[in-house]
Amino acid sequence: MEDIFCRIIKGEIPSTKIYEDDDVLAILDISQTTKGHTLVIPKAHCDNFLSCPADIMHKVMDVAQRIGQAEMSILGAKGVNILTNVGEPAGQSVMHFHVHVIPRYLGGEGGFQITMKGQDTSAMDLPRLAMDISKALKK
Ligand code: AMP
Repeated sequence: MEDIFCRIIKGEIPSTKIYEDDDVLAILDISQTTKGHTLVIPKAHCDNFLSCPADIMHKVMDVAQRIGQAEMSILGAKGVNILTNVGEPAGQSVMHFHVHVIPRYLGGEGGFQITMKGQDTSAMDLPRLAMDISKALKK
């Protein structure tokens, strides 16, 4: 079955459109975590950021940047979260790559807190870890 964003792109399901070109669609997120919460979506289906072809990923990120800039300039936002979830453990619920652009305001309703809990790293070999990841980078 097609995911909900494929159906929105085809026009089968209504959306509140902000931007569209041949490759990219940007719509208001139905949940409006904060006022202006936007989703930037490639029209060609790919599951997530990691599996998206680089040229399309760059186009999506370009639109995300422009939307963040526009929202900062007209909505009174004092910050923006740009985020994309990859896989269920990371909170991805729609398996079609999308970037959230979430304006942040001083006070007010909505929003969320990102809490990064540090671990005890004393038993970790961090230089080895860095080397392993570095070696696995695709050229
Ligand atoms: P994620 O959890 O990162 O996969 O984000 C999926 C997002 O899609 C959520 O923030 C939902 O609120 C949003 N969403 C789901 N259905 C729709 C829809 N029909 N129109 C707009 N946004 C949607």
